[in-house]
Amino acid sequence: GPDYVRAIAPYQGGKPIAEVAREFGLDEAKIIKLASNENPLGMPESARQAMLAAMNELGRYPDSNGYELKQTITAKYGVPADWVTLGNGSNDILELAAHAFVQPGQAVIYAQYSFAVYALATQAVGGRADVVPAKNYGHDLGAMLEAVTGDTRLVFIANPNNPTGTFIAPGEIEAFLRKVPANVVVVLDEAYNEYLAPELQYDSIAWVRQYPNLLVSRTLSKAYGLAGLRIGFGIAQPGITDLLNRIRQPFNVNSMAQAAAIAALNDDAFLRRSAQINTDGYRQLTQAFIEMDLEYVPSYGNFVLFRAGSDDAAGARINLELLRRGIIVRPVGNYGMPQWLRVSIGLPEENAAFIAALKEILS
Ligand code: PMP
Repeated sequence: GPDYVRAIAPYQGGKPIAEVAREFGLDEAKIIKLASNENPLGMPESARQAMLAAMNELGRYPDSNGYELKQTITAKYGVPADWVTLGNGSNDILELAAHAFVQPGQAVIYAQYSFAVYALATQAVGGRADVVPAKNYGHDLGAMLEAVTGDTRLVFIANPNNPTGTFIAPGEIEAFLRKVPANVVVVLDEAYNEYLAPELQYDSIAWVRQYPNLLVSRTLSKAYGLAGLRIGFGIAQPGITDLLNRIRQPFNVNSMAQAAAIAALNDDAFLRRSAQINTDGYRQLTQAFIEMDLEYVPSYGNFVLFRAGSDDAAGARINLELLRRGIIVRPVGNYGMPQWLRVSIGLPEENAAFIAALKEILS
């Protein structure tokens, strides 16, 4: 196989509850997982009902083109159905973009400390990663623009970013889109968009109408509570969508996921509850970090990155102590941040248990 495939370091997900229970001799029911930026409310009841109905049709293939789901997306976002690509999670969209636009040796730009899958998707196609140093733990779009060369085919931008939670002002993104060469495809990954406060929301779909080289990606895994089903989508003009559609697996989104996504996208009440519990939990966690005198990066997502200690073993050490107490968070050593840990925002009682464990460990 290609050397560039052999060189890939595998994705490290959040540790599963069953494994932690076994490894640390704990009761599964008492373990609290705040490691994968999942929705602490679980999935919406509306999606559960839709799936129960869809279950009767599992003998059939899914709709390969996701007709009904695309109708829902069309209505919600005001774009034609042929501007939508459905994905097996938004990860799928990110990977399809790399496959569609990057040949071995061509370059992909993304920011230091941004989502791990950008590196994986780049490496999987033999692309060259031009990683641009972060500014205040977030994207430096000016420097990313300067990094564009004749080799550049793709730029990944995450807003808000994972694992740092940083937010890019819409004006900066717009300026970037205006200046970036038209033959460079820009993927604007908005996995955490629904957590943005109303006054921070911006119209990225208007940019899609204006810029034929922009692909916006969204997911049902976070605020919509459907991470286990694997469903996300991309919105772009047909020039991009048509290519993604040619290379995706014909049945990349299963029928349960399609049914659940339609229900969830129409469930505004669930979305509002998800955002509210996140706002409350953010305050709860950050107040505790301030009390404990722990540095954290202000976050616009459903997680917070905090500095567990000032030595490079701190992240791993505190992570282990948390695991012993049945709390799973995410180490970010693979992002080059060995002093830091990322904690997803949970239910009030889950946040409280995490805070209590952390206080005990650090005292
Ligand atoms: N983009 C970002 C920035 C993320 O943090 C994640 C989830 N960790 C994803 C995309 C992918 O999520 P999914 O494949 O579940 O849609």
